[in-house]
Amino acid sequence: MKRYFHCIFFLSLMVVPLMGIPYEQTEEYTQKQAILNERAVRFKAETGFEGDISYNLQSMQFSTISGSFKEIEVTAPQDTVIMRSVFDQVVSKVMPYISAREGQLKSGKVNSNMNGSGIIYWQKVNGYSIEGGGGSLRIHYSLATSQLSVNNGTVDISSDPISINLSLEQAISLVQEKVFDGAEVKPTNPRIAYVPIDNDDGQAYYLCYVLVNQGYTVLVDVSEPIIRKVAPNLISRSFNVNVLGNVYNGVYTDIVNIPLSQQSMGSVLVQTPIDSLYADYFGQQTVSDSIYTWLKTELRNHEIFHVVQYPDSMTVVQQDSVSVSGSQLFSFFSDNNAKTANAYYHAHHQQQFLNELVADDMLQPWMLKITTNYPYTSGGTIDYNGNTIRISHNSGKLSHVVRHELSHANILSVLLTLFNNTNDDTKDAMDEAFAVYLPCAATESPYCIYGNQQDPQRIDTMNHISSVTPLDLNERAYCRVPNVGVNSNSLFLWLFEGI
Ligand SMILES: [Zn+2]
Repeated sequence: MKRYFHCIFFLSLMVVPLMGIPYEQTEEYTQKQAILNERAVRFKAETGFEGDISYNLQSMQFSTISGSFKEIEVTAPQDTVIMRSVFDQVVSKVMPYISAREGQLKSGKVNSNMNGSGIIYWQKVNGYSIEGGGGSLRIHYSLATSQLSVNNGTVDISSDPISINLSLEQAISLVQEKVFDGAEVKPTNPRIAYVPIDNDDGQAYYLCYVLVNQGYTVLVDVSEPIIRKVAPNLISRSFNVNVLGNVYNGVYTDIVNIPLSQQSMGSVLVQTPIDSLYADYFGQQTVSDSIYTWLKTELRNHEIFHVVQYPDSMTVVQQDSVSVSGSQLFSFFSDNNAKTANAYYHAHHQQQFLNELVADDMLQPWMLKITTNYPYTSGGTIDYNGNTIRISHNSGKLSHVVRHELSHANILSVLLTLFNNTNDDTKDAMDEAFAVYLPCAATESPYCIYGNQQDPQRIDTMNHISSVTPLDLNERAYCRVPNVGVNSNSLFLWLFEGI
């Protein structure tokens, strides 16, 4: 395989009150556990399930199972059509053991990626959604473990129809009178849904008007003029995701002490079991689910490029942490030895710049792999045949290395072999000039690569560049010069005029 070395550029966790004897030592716990152990044995015998089961001691139904079913074979884990049929088979197996009744589960879209496939079945009762937590069954198949996992959040609601005796207008008037002292407060997006209301026995679901007003959500029973609950606005089915990462400055005069800051990671893939979306340029996206532990973000810029970290060349790098604050989710890529977050950030910025110049999606690189942490001593390379850029572990923090190689990839995809590997030194030098110029143009830095104008090595390099003829100014010529620094515009124009 031919390589072009560019040597220089390179749960419901049961919270048991800590009073008296631990719940695990109570008679009630022992009794419930005995019942659940028996249920687990029966479940395995009746469904052919092999694996782990955990139960919710309040609802006495399983909360998660993880393993496999004897009669369910997963033949194509990333084929969404086949996986839908697998997931449907799982649902029919577990249906008798969950709270949702027959006909209450509506399937969402199957999502597939390099980690496996997943789906959410939403529980709906006579067409009405369930709000305020619960009401879903999530199934995921992991490629790494070859196991199916089922997360059961279904709730016990009868399918018997409930008569709606109160009109929306009557419900709104009731709320204005009882909650807002007669003020004509109008709710936004009024709707009817099943909502959990606490009672002496725990919780029961009521069909209510959900009236979201200034700061409060008021739940009014549809059958009788009763306000079931007034709650601060917490019911939410959509979350804003902010993707952030640790990034080094793109322009520097000193390659050791480059300032590090937190920046948005634009265009990354944002996934939940129901959504698979790319963040916008500012690393923002809205996902339609609040269960943030399922949130996954990957360093994948559409189908243009994705970032992996040596030695694992198959797994696209995922976020290091997810946190939640109100309705904002934060997905964070930390700094690491390979500076992978930094490499993505600068590659994304560079690609964005190039996209604006080219304005034709067909001419972008496609499925280009950027490998960080590669065991080169320094710099980066582009392997055109392998459609791969490799960045050495100590060049990940240098924006110009990944920008340079990515510019090469774009020059090839736009101009094909016009300047690439032509065996004509002048043309090959042109290819190099583009890769030197474009990162400088994108970062709006007047000097190519980096370097203090007064740096003797840089001056030496400038002298060298101006002494070589275009015939010598190709990759091989660059390789003889350490720390190339040259005024990008003059080099570019000079070469351009030389053609
Ligand atoms: Zn190059």
